[in-house]
Amino acid sequence: MEHKTTQDTPWFRGAARSRRRSAARGLSMKSQATPVKPDAPASSAADTIKRVYLLDEGNKDMKMLLGGKGANLCEMAKLELPVPPAFIITTETCLEYFREGTGNLPAALDFEEQLKALEDDTGKKFGNPQNPLLVSVRSGAPASMPGMMDTVLNLGLNDEIVQGIIDTTGNERFAYDTYRRFLNMYSDVVMDLDKEPFEEVISEIKKKKGIKLDLEMEASDWKEVVGEFKKLNPNVPTDPREQLRGAILAVFRSWNNDRAIRYRSYNGIPDAWGTAVSVQAMAYGNMNDGCGTGVAFSRNPSTGENKFFGEFLPNAAGEDVVAGIRTPQPLEEMAQKWPEVYAELFKYQGQLEKYYGDMQDIEFTVENGRLYMLQCRNGKRTAKASVKIAVDMVKEGTLTEQEALLRIPANQMDFFLHPTLDPKAEKTVIGEGLPASPGAATGKIVFTPDDAEAMANLGEDVILVRKETTPEDIHGMKSAQGVLTALGGMTSHAAVVARGMGKCCVSGCTAAEVDFRAKTLKLGEVELKEHDVITIDGSTGEVYLGTVDRRSATEDADFQTVLKWADDLRQLKVLTNADTPEQAKTARSLGAQGIGLCRSEHMFFAPERISAMRAMIVSEEKKERLEHLETMGAFQRDDIAKILEEMDGLPVTIRLLDPPLHEFLPHSLDEMQALADTVGKPLSVVQDRVAQLQEVNPMLGFRGCRLSVVYPEITEMQARAVASAAATNKKAGLDPKPEIMVPVVSTAKELRLIVPRIQAAVADELKKAGVDMDIPIGTMMELPRACQTADQIVGTEGVEFMSFGTNDLTQSVWGFSRDDAIKFIGRYQEQGLLDFDPFARIDEEGVGGLIKTALEKARAKQPGTKVGICGEHGGEPKSVHFFHSQGFDYVSCSPFRVPIARIAAGQAAAQELLKKSAGDGLYRNSITNVKRAGKKTD
Ligand code: ADP
Ligand code: MG
Ligand code: MG
Repeated sequence: MEHKTTQDTPWFRGAARSRRRSAARGLSMKSQATPVKPDAPASSAADTIKRVYLLDEGNKDMKMLLGGKGANLCEMAKLELPVPPAFIITTETCLEYFREGTGNLPAALDFEEQLKALEDDTGKKFGNPQNPLLVSVRSGAPASMPGMMDTVLNLGLNDEIVQGIIDTTGNERFAYDTYRRFLNMYSDVVMDLDKEPFEEVISEIKKKKGIKLDLEMEASDWKEVVGEFKKLNPNVPTDPREQLRGAILAVFRSWNNDRAIRYRSYNGIPDAWGTAVSVQAMAYGNMNDGCGTGVAFSRNPSTGENKFFGEFLPNAAGEDVVAGIRTPQPLEEMAQKWPEVYAELFKYQGQLEKYYGDMQDIEFTVENGRLYMLQCRNGKRTAKASVKIAVDMVKEGTLTEQEALLRIPANQMDFFLHPTLDPKAEKTVIGEGLPASPGAATGKIVFTPDDAEAMANLGEDVILVRKETTPEDIHGMKSAQGVLTALGGMTSHAAVVARGMGKCCVSGCTAAEVDFRAKTLKLGEVELKEHDVITIDGSTGEVYLGTVDRRSATEDADFQTVLKWADDLRQLKVLTNADTPEQAKTARSLGAQGIGLCRSEHMFFAPERISAMRAMIVSEEKKERLEHLETMGAFQRDDIAKILEEMDGLPVTIRLLDPPLHEFLPHSLDEMQALADTVGKPLSVVQDRVAQLQEVNPMLGFRGCRLSVVYPEITEMQARAVASAAATNKKAGLDPKPEIMVPVVSTAKELRLIVPRIQAAVADELKKAGVDMDIPIGTMMELPRACQTADQIVGTEGVEFMSFGTNDLTQSVWGFSRDDAIKFIGRYQEQGLLDFDPFARIDEEGVGGLIKTALEKARAKQPGTKVGICGEHGGEPKSVHFFHSQGFDYVSCSPFRVPIARIAAGQAAAQELLKKSAGDGLYRNSITNVKRAGKKTD
């Protein structure tokens, strides 16, 4: 069954930590040797390398080497918090393991001395039944990857040693409970056996005894469980040192399990980092009622409220909290029960938060009334909480505004702009695609844009379901609450248009079988008919059956404060990509400082307009074309005037017609007949013309300025429309600031031909209107040839600015079609060939390298030329950092990404400032920036 019901609690590790295993896991793990970092030192120089650290040899700044968990354990020990003794094997050793590829631990790894230190510290002996030391073997990467990798607990047990534990503690129940936990975990994590049969053993015994809880199991029951477990897996090594080696290897391998690889690719964590392994003396939470284990946050990770918050399970081990077998108690109950332990924990959480300057997520265990700290880290939190915590910490004087700004996960800020699903709501996931345009929507499914419009007119909420969308679907998309497509990536038509509309969209839901004739949608085993209700979440890409409760995030004072910090700091201007007056208005209300891209063809998507466009396209002679162009010009002039009015006083960059003409053509016979009737031509003429305009590869075809070259009259119409709209507004006392941009330029010669034509048309129109104003002309930079010859491009008479179209530039540099890349990009990411989708985030090496070249050449020729970027990357935080670093004047992005871009631009500036003052110890790791410790990130 494809169904899964999720109870969404994003901040709690438990959700992500489900230890479900696929049957293929073992295979994929073993086949996934990662020959990363070819330039790393060879192991011949090995002897001088320090591979193992004791807690007093590390600190919090050594995350790259010791992993986040290890580094923070060292730091807590340094602060004299009660941490069980431990040693940490470095991430470098993990990489060494992968490099050697023998399947064994690196020959040079030796931890005997450190193991001895653990024995001395605890007064126990590893492998000695008299007073045995048991350890946990814990994974821990430089960046937090909660629950993605493996950990083995209670290691160092065998039949003889378990007897030793009974003898020393007199607690047989504890001894066998611990032993069964170990056998279960070792079989699962190290030996890759299925967990279910082990779980069944326990349920069988419980059923037999008529009990439900682990707590009701007696010593003899756990002893029986141990016996059964040994039958299920007789091959757990009995030698504790062999167990230890096995577990360390398993943790190394878990760096490359499927979950971990996918998590890294989604979160931009390089595969080349590796995991550290912490080997730590066990603290027992499962001995008796004076023990227990819990998780706590120094502030509420869901709301951000400044109140110590957490959960606790008496007489239990760590894995029980996460597994959700028993419902934990709120920490308040622990405060009642053990006021002293609680007071101690409360003191430490305050201390740690102040020290790290961030909300802390803490794992602890209580053994016989003694508190042990097992982990601390900057806590994951919701968008809402991150903003509240940052603002509160500035008020409290813990952080400066700059530091607090850097704590904000910019890409989560669209939470504040769209209605979102209630995280507490019950949901049934039936499919998953790409989170193409954020927000959530519920509605009846429809399969054609006309049905969407008709239903919407009846006041119904609908979700438009399509294989993919085309410009002809626009009215349907407008009418729908949300859009779901089977094909198409993050920059597909559906995604880009939906984002522009601020409409939620899930694209690339490849499992969806859409039959628009039968009007059915199949998702796995779920079959839906027209008008069945679904909910889609454009922020996660998930599709749910039926209605899911939503709530709206209103104007939030803390969010506004954060935006103000960013605006005060940033150097980049943030413009928007807007094609309609409504979009312009929305974007301006979200802080856009103008329009960096107004796609003039989007003004022709409405039904009555597309017919004028179609008539123009099928025109057989110039005279006819001019007539239709005049109709189009009138529409264009009105729209531009309205957009200029919405953005009055701010720049509005209008791009000349770009898409392949055939995108506007009718496809069905009915539509062709209708067009033939409108223009009074025989059907065959229309059919011929449509056939003539078909292209094998439209993305590289007859589009952009190539239209201007062949049909100068189209460009002239557009230039006149811009000038006359501006003149009208100016005469009305407004302050219009239009600019004209030429798309898909590959050679300066195209500009030399086209720019003078624009200038002449503009001058003529302004003269007719009796208005004097400047309308700058610029060029898109979206083809490699233009970048490579940027000096000639900006050197062209009349070219005043350049705007990088990074969607097309990414497409042409990689040779990946924007619309088809969805079919393989996911696989590339899974196999580590791509750390991220280059259509979503700028590829700094390749595409960025070309941009750098272009900037260098352009600046050498024409210093001070205005430079912008108007691809989807303009609203992506990491990309915004790059554009800041290259001294861009502005980024331009979808209206609903404007606030994100503002924050990201502020963060880029803040980071630069803080780096400069790093010497003062001002710069601290933030959750948005993993410090790279001077390493190359791939
Ligand atoms: P994860 O990274 O998945 O959180 P951890 O290494 O933190 O994995 O281990 C999971 C849980 O196991 C911890 O939260 C803790 O409860 C328990 N645990 C780990 N090491 C020890 C230990 N030395 N003593 C007691 N419990 C431990
Ligand atoms: Mg943990
Ligand atoms: Mg383009």
